[in-house]
Amino acid sequence: VREQHFDILIIGGGPAGTSAAARAAAAGARVAVIEARREIGQPVQCAEFVPALLAETLPWLGEVTVQPIRRMRTFVAGGAAEETASFPGFMIDRGAFDARLAAEAARCGARLFCGRRVVAVELERGRVATSRGEVFTGRVLIGADGPRSLLGAATGRVNRDLVETRQIAVALHAPQDATDIFLDAAYPGGYAWLFPKRRIANLGLGVEAGSRALLREGLRALHARLVAEGVVGDEVLGFTGGAIPVGGRQEAVAFAAAVPVVLAGDAAGLANPTTGAGIAAAVLSGGLAGEAAAAWLEGRGAAFEDLEEELGFLFDPSLARALRHRRHLLGLPDPLPDQLRAGWIGDPRYWQAQAAAMAEAG
Ligand SMILES: Cc1cc2nc3c(=O)[nH]c(=O)nc-3n(C[C@H](O)[C@H](O)[C@H](O)COP(=O)(O)OP(=O)(O)OC[C@H]3O[C@@H](n4cnc5c(N)ncnc54)[C@H](O)[C@@H]3O)c2cc1C
Repeated sequence: VREQHFDILIIGGGPAGTSAAARAAAAGARVAVIEARREIGQPVQCAEFVPALLAETLPWLGEVTVQPIRRMRTFVAGGAAEETASFPGFMIDRGAFDARLAAEAARCGARLFCGRRVVAVELERGRVATSRGEVFTGRVLIGADGPRSLLGAATGRVNRDLVETRQIAVALHAPQDATDIFLDAAYPGGYAWLFPKRRIANLGLGVEAGSRALLREGLRALHARLVAEGVVGDEVLGFTGGAIPVGGRQEAVAFAAAVPVVLAGDAAGLANPTTGAGIAAAVLSGGLAGEAAAAWLEGRGAAFEDLEEELGFLFDPSLARALRHRRHLLGLPDPLPDQLRAGWIGDPRYWQAQAAAMAEAG
């Protein structure tokens, strides 16, 4: 089998992988991305909300935006809406978003190999084999292959805590500029959401993986309630799901062999353990990983230590806060509505607990 050699080999063409590819290729490295899906970004497995701040990193975000979000409404245990007046963000077309990131990577000179899955890794030589029988090598490997990362597993970095999700697309009867969040003791380790995309909404439910048997009936019941309330249509227009890592950050760089293995995005456990949001973290961590890999290959020995430190600086405070709330709630056998409320980002106590814990730690 002919081997194809690259400086940097990236597994996974999601936001983390293509962001890494763009940055590394722009720095002059020879970069390949290997993606299992035939078409980048398809099928979409996402609720498609991103925070407004992401527009500062991605100036073209408006081109893939379906509608703006200004507020958040939280419904606790079937109660009335509790409003968070300022919650700026965008509902995006996630398929177009991922495609746009991939196009940017290609424009920077990265090569994208879609429709092949990496099925085996030989760390010693930086070699991977694909489902098409090809062999690729890299002097640095980047695992951007999502929550159940193959490269993570090969280097002992496994995302053990996962949330499983189930989501449908339904007609939305009246336009809204709020994301709706449903907290309930019946959703252990997770929550339900209704995110508006003009005349359509993504209606989904996530729970800790061990409770995944609750997903079908939980989502059906919420859908039926919202149909009865006249909020959404009865017909299911689309269906998706997927896992979200919620156990916190993995070490970004492993030197299991001569070839360093860098993780980014969900593979690195960067999704928020409370909200499940991981798109922005994937873009940011991917860009930093690609930049560090290129710098390391150019002889900047400290590039990976700097990466680890930068990721800790950017993500550890919010991940630690989210993890603490998540673990606290999961430890309650039957959380009361106010306990659910206090563990959600819309409640001031969610943010204050951190300050209190920090003061305690001195
Ligand atoms: C239902 C759902 C709703 C969500 N909603 C939101 C939201 O509203 N906002 C938000 O910010 N986040 C959301 N998330 C989380 C968000 O989707 C992820 O955090 C984000 O996609 C992480 O990007 P990534 O590039 O790290 O991984 P991914 O986007 O998962 O990309 C990984 C890629 O690697 C490929 N791959 C995996 N294994 C291999 C292999 N062996 N060989 C080749 N390719 C491989 C996959 O095909 C995939 O394309 C949601 C997640 C789910 C499941």
